Amino acid sequence: MTINKKIRQRVRFAHRRLREWRMIAKGLLSTRHPVLAHIIPTRRCNLSCTYCNEFDDFSNPVPTEEMRRRIDRLAELGTSIITISGGEPLLHPDLDDIIRHMRHRGIISGMITNGYLLTVERIERLNRAGLEHLQISIDNAQPDAVSKKSLKVLDKKLQMLAEHAEFGVNINSVVGSGIAHPEDALTVANRAVALGFSSTLGIIHDGSGQLQPLKPLEREVYEKIKQLGKKSFARFNAFQENIAHGRPNDWRCRAGARYLYICEDGLVHYCSQQRGYPAISLFDYTREQMRHEFFAPKSCAPYCTVSCVQQIAMIDNWRAPQKPLPRTNPPGLESIQSESSEKQQALAK
Ligand code: SF4
Ligand code: SF4
Repeated sequence: MTINKKIRQRVRFAHRRLREWRMIAKGLLSTRHPVLAHIIPTRRCNLSCTYCNEFDDFSNPVPTEEMRRRIDRLAELGTSIITISGGEPLLHPDLDDIIRHMRHRGIISGMITNGYLLTVERIERLNRAGLEHLQISIDNAQPDAVSKKSLKVLDKKLQMLAEHAEFGVNINSVVGSGIAHPEDALTVANRAVALGFSSTLGIIHDGSGQLQPLKPLEREVYEKIKQLGKKSFARFNAFQENIAHGRPNDWRCRAGARYLYICEDGLVHYCSQQRGYPAISLFDYTREQMRHEFFAPKSCAPYCTVSCVQQIAMIDNWRAPQKPLPRTNPPGLESIQSESSEKQQALAK
């Protein structure tokens, strides 16, 4: 890596950290804006992992102008971070413009990709567009019938990223349902750390986003990666600890308020695993609706494995308890009127 590149990486790292601290401070001061939104520019994927329920092999990309309108609407709602997900986002022909637009609106920009389509030229374009975070999830050491997201196939891409990316890179390894060789997760995590990336461990959920308790070998791998995490800043929190041991989590899911999942049709859903709720167009999604969802308990919360929503919830977990509020109008047009709701709102600025 050239000295210039190293300097640019460091400057961008410092700038990123500053923006992240600002985002956390804004999130702590007020609960009235989304902290994180996942947005889908295409449902199509070039792979077909057998455990995945988030892709197809035929959808057209969302028109770029429509993506810009959705980003503008998320900016109006005060969204701090947008992560582009899919399907495979690199299949969108105007991905760089979409990222540029997010940055233009002052939003922290991230992307989740399977990494297959990365080249040096593509990484340099992502640098220029202003991408700030990229995550690749690697499922195994060798490709198998379940997943081709393998270290063997992707290692060259990781080396390219280590050499050329000016954005932050996180490598997520996984254990759980359908992963044949859990020990591979340790190999992946070690490689990520050796290349200077951050590393996380995901526990794969079933088709409804729910917990499958880890088997003995999976738990052993989990414990080893946790040790590695102490040195490499991999993030292990109380949520994951409970998930690994098959215990329910006591937390307040703020999906629909602090976290929004915007599908390819522009509808707001709780998360990738609870699509269909509330399924309201982003352009009709009101601050009142967000307020309702902030306080609404989610019955799927105790055994949920959707870690990004859990991480966002940590900002507010100490705040007002959740309790369903009366709906006085059809969804999307709620007005919040009861005395108890006023108390709740007073508790949660
Ligand atoms: S690469 Fe990602 S989106 Fe594509 S099938 Fe696999 S898990 Fe699903
Ligand atoms: S608890 Fe929240 S994040 Fe988890 S599956 Fe339910 S709605 Fe989604």
